[in-house]
Amino acid sequence: MADALWHERALALNIDGRAFINGERAWSRTEQQFDKHSPIDGRKLAAVARCGAPDVDAAVQSARAAFEDGRWSGMPPAKRKRVLIRFADLIQQNTAELALLETLDMGKPIKYSQSVDVGSAANCIRWYGEAVDKVYDEIAPTASSSLALITREPVGVVGAIIPWNYPMIMAAWKIAPALAAGNSVVLKPSEKAPLTSLRLAELALQAGIPAGVFSVLPGYGNEAGSALALHMDVDCIAFTGSTRVGKQIMQMAGQSNLKRAWTELGGKSANIVCADCPDLDAAVAAAVGSIYFNQGESCNAPSRLFVEESVKDAFIEKALAMVPRYQPGDPLDEATVMGAIVDEVQMKTVLGYIEAGKHGGARLLAGGAQERAQSGGYYVAPTLFDQVDSGMKIAQEEIFGPVLSVLSFSDVQDAVKQANATPYGLQAAVWSADMSKAIQVARALRAGTVHVNQYDGDDITVPFGGYKQSGNGRDKSLHAFDKYTELKTTWIQIG
Ligand code: NAD
Repeated sequence: MADALWHERALALNIDGRAFINGERAWSRTEQQFDKHSPIDGRKLAAVARCGAPDVDAAVQSARAAFEDGRWSGMPPAKRKRVLIRFADLIQQNTAELALLETLDMGKPIKYSQSVDVGSAANCIRWYGEAVDKVYDEIAPTASSSLALITREPVGVVGAIIPWNYPMIMAAWKIAPALAAGNSVVLKPSEKAPLTSLRLAELALQAGIPAGVFSVLPGYGNEAGSALALHMDVDCIAFTGSTRVGKQIMQMAGQSNLKRAWTELGGKSANIVCADCPDLDAAVAAAVGSIYFNQGESCNAPSRLFVEESVKDAFIEKALAMVPRYQPGDPLDEATVMGAIVDEVQMKTVLGYIEAGKHGGARLLAGGAQERAQSGGYYVAPTLFDQVDSGMKIAQEEIFGPVLSVLSFSDVQDAVKQANATPYGLQAAVWSADMSKAIQVARALRAGTVHVNQYDGDDITVPFGGYKQSGNGRDKSLHAFDKYTELKTTWIQIG
């Protein structure tokens, strides 16, 4: 589609910001709304329901009723599979609309909303749909006088709270395994990007997911979010977001009914390039491409780049030659690869970290400022700091913006020590032609995923999640069923 057409379509969109509860669109019972503006140009997109505790009560009640009467939980897995596959198909049939909503809502380039976000969300839902009638339970190897069945049962009502950086993908990572396992789900998207989640709920109903089984409540974290995390009739809370709020979620679970609490949190991932890196150009392309993808608003962005001293100058020279390709542009232009930061608050946070880097003694080699201010939106230039020290604020805290910090090392043990010296442990990478060295480093890195000689390994078949304060539990793969099922043992006396 030509770029002018995306703009025309954007203006013609009629966006419904009402919540989706028990199979219907509804304004909040609190009668509150908030205005959702686009980070692309500041334009108001829609009034959105500002849900609160009464809406959470209504959604949880309908979720519980649906769970108990078995309209979804009691459906044979093969039938749930067909419905979930239809849901995935509908997502793909509505690619243009969903991609446009995602881009307008949170600022990412339309190129990626279409090619990455919609397809990835649909693939996730299809994959769990396909998996659900192929997963078997177990019989324990007990004495022959009895039979011990170990079965998985859905936990019941799942509350899901997600961030704004990949709204559709984050929604899919939660709802697909939870629904496939037979649960009812109440989803609270981020107030910064609620629009695609609301459309997903309509498509789910259209696909045949019965009313009440999947509700979506837009609203603020300290209103709808905390009401969900504190609710006494929610069995499990699955959270993706910052480490700060993740800690509060665990407390709220403990403070209420000790619901199972799963957290997928922040990151400060380390990318270690050794002097014997087999392909320096590939390492540069991965380092630069991965930090600037999605405007740097990725939990697993390799924001700390450790380069062995002897190759550092060559590496930086190559990296600086690539940086201009990531200059921010109009997100509705299909050539744009870096879009807008989600809102003014986040843009100011990123610019604040850049100031902290400069004052802390790091050397700014590229970017460092707001861009495209005349658009009315929020854009930051791709930024690169050299001479960063592990103890600096920009090397310790998650910036969640297009800022790459380059650090150096002289021996690989020192690199591992520095890499592990943050509270986070989401992802990491090591580049070396010496496979036994690379594997030793991979083993020593305290991270949920370690890449060797690449940074783009990603597939629905592998678990995603972190060590340390990057969270607990795993999204994606069959392991995600662990979050949304209870294990039951049934002893049967024989003879
Ligand atoms: P955030 O923690 O501010 O908000 C996440 C969600 O929690 C939002 O829906 C928000 O409304 C809600 N929330 C906020 N306060 C709450 C409260 N008191 N009670 C209940 N809910 C509350 O995070 P964000 O800014 O939306 O997202 C960015 C963060 O998400 C980054 O730290 C990023 O690393 C992380 N993230 C992690 C993963 C992962 O898989 N590990 C994936 C994507 C993003």
